[in-house]
Amino acid sequence: MASITLKDIVKKYGDGFPAVKGVSIDIADGEFVILVGPSGCGKSTLLRMIVGLEDITSGDLLIDGERVNEKAPRDRDLAMVFQNYALYPHLTVAENIAFPLRLNKGRLTDAEIREKVERAADLLDLREHLDRKPANLSGGQRQRVAMGRAIVRDAKAFLFDEPLSNLDAKLRGQMRTEIARLQRRLATTTVYVTHDQTEAMTLGDRVAVLRKGELQQIASPRALYEQP
Ligand code: ADP
Ligand code: ADP
Repeated sequence: MASITLKDIVKKYGDGFPAVKGVSIDIADGEFVILVGPSGCGKSTLLRMIVGLEDITSGDLLIDGERVNEKAPRDRDLAMVFQNYALYPHLTVAENIAFPLRLNKGRLTDAEIREKVERAADLLDLREHLDRKPANLSGGQRQRVAMGRAIVRDAKAFLFDEPLSNLDAKLRGQMRTEIARLQRRLATTTVYVTHDQTEAMTLGDRVAVLRKGELQQIASPRALYEQP
């Protein structure tokens, strides 16, 4: 777990208009922060800069107080869950969940990997599905496998990029409850991008509202709701 600090973060793609124009946010250890705003406001860009998939043009990104602007994604120790799940179709559920651990071969024994995979599967209600392939799973189950892959790594934070937008309304409601429960249980620092108002108002400790690359406000859902 870790705190994440954004200090006056700017992103310019090429020599175009800045996509992010000086955003500062302090995310506490264990906090669940939602980034919300209309399409094109810079949500994904911000998330991708935090995880290290996109260079930061100026400003400072700190993880647990340490500046990580130049650190490679894998050295930042953050786990990202994508909208399209990015599962490996030829691997089983267990192999998909174990994949990030296999990348660090040698650090963990097979027994340790198995234990971590089983613990994640229990948390996500995937125990009976470990030997199946992603093609044979429902959308909600695929989403859970993607979350499992984030959980097993014991990462410092979870980063979600519109994880529920490919699901139908009913499943979205169900997964929303599950993500909230899981985050509270693991108490892992979480940054969650969405354009869905319901997700924004029900999931997080605080909601950061972005507009045209700027932070408009950041407050608890209740404070935002009670605003005139
Ligand atoms: P959101 O996630 O809120 O929809 P994005 O972060 O994807 O917004 O985009 C913010 C702005 O940056 C948009 O104007 C978008 O067109 C631009 N942008 C995003 N990615 C790139 C890119 N790879 N190259 C150039 N411009 C980009
Ligand atoms: P291997 O490359 O050792 O043959 P497997 O294909 O069996 O690995 O599975 C990949 C990983 O997922 C392994 O680390 C294994 O411990 C774990 N795993 C596979 N099947 C299960 C299962 N049914 N329950 C729990 N963990 C499993």
